[in-house]
Amino acid sequence: MKILLPTSTAGSLPKPSWLAQPETLWSPWKLQDEELIDGKQDALRLCLQDQLQAGIDIVSDGEQTRQHFVTTFIEHLSGVDFEKRETVRIRNRYDASVPTVVGAVSRQKPVFVEDAKFLRQQTKQPIKWALPGPMTMIDTLYDSHYKSREKLAWEFAKILNQEAKELEAAGVDIIQFDEPAFNVFFDEVNDWGIAALERAVEGLKCETAVHICYGYGIKANTDWKKTLGTEWRQYEEIFPKLQKSSIDIISLECQNSRVPMDLIELIRGKKVMVGAIDVATHNIETPEEVADTLRKALQFVDADKLYPSTNCGMTPLPRRVARGKLNALSLGAHIVRKELSNK
Ligand SMILES: [Zn+2]
Repeated sequence: MKILLPTSTAGSLPKPSWLAQPETLWSPWKLQDEELIDGKQDALRLCLQDQLQAGIDIVSDGEQTRQHFVTTFIEHLSGVDFEKRETVRIRNRYDASVPTVVGAVSRQKPVFVEDAKFLRQQTKQPIKWALPGPMTMIDTLYDSHYKSREKLAWEFAKILNQEAKELEAAGVDIIQFDEPAFNVFFDEVNDWGIAALERAVEGLKCETAVHICYGYGIKANTDWKKTLGTEWRQYEEIFPKLQKSSIDIISLECQNSRVPMDLIELIRGKKVMVGAIDVATHNIETPEEVADTLRKALQFVDADKLYPSTNCGMTPLPRRVARGKLNALSLGAHIVRKELSNK
């Protein structure tokens, strides 16, 4: 990136109410067939427009074409039976009815590549595309075939790598893997989780990112956060190994969170997407509040490696709130950019 402090969002943005039920995860589509295809593209254009108008530098599709950041990807793979459901505990936090892995998993055809090409046609700005990470994928499934979390994650990593290479060829500048599971299963992350992620990015020439957060602003997550105590030191468990990994960018939750900012020192040298927007509240940050978080982060991240972002996706928020937060992010980054250029 040529400009200092390029802004982006962590991932999803709210969908228009004519496309899907607002403020809802796994919201069913309101359109069908041809109308749904057109509707998703129209929503993508609107969502891009919101980002451009707010002055966001690295733009995305806002995940307008997917129902859910993990499930939608898995739906396109073979080896997973969506009719056969089991209840599992997701990220040790909440029970959900999930599909079952019944055979060898594989990707018969590209999942998001056409959507990425469509986004690429709409803008000259750098674009970022989010995919689920291997560990978060296996944590959202019941496995009756491999019977090994590590083996299944490894298979998914190979599939993600195929998809990522085609996204890169479609003109995506940054491919991001969402790994909220990295904040929960520390031993596995260090044993094989980071290795699986590195398998997913193998051979890519575009930039790569991993997003590790405390989740959407839904009740299961806010309740969980209340049990984590006054200092959230989860990142400390995995940062040393991530620092040595081949991933270029680490996307983190920092705004209103109890993560001690100095933990970022542990990944010194990496680019850091600093979450300066809280997605668990409808309060819109002031630009000054955003600037304040960025200034704190600058103690531990070199200015040319700091990427202001949001804590997580904004799907569950009203569109008006999400737009306000995009503006605040952009204006907050602008304040700090000016301070840095005056030095
Ligand atoms: Zn997140």
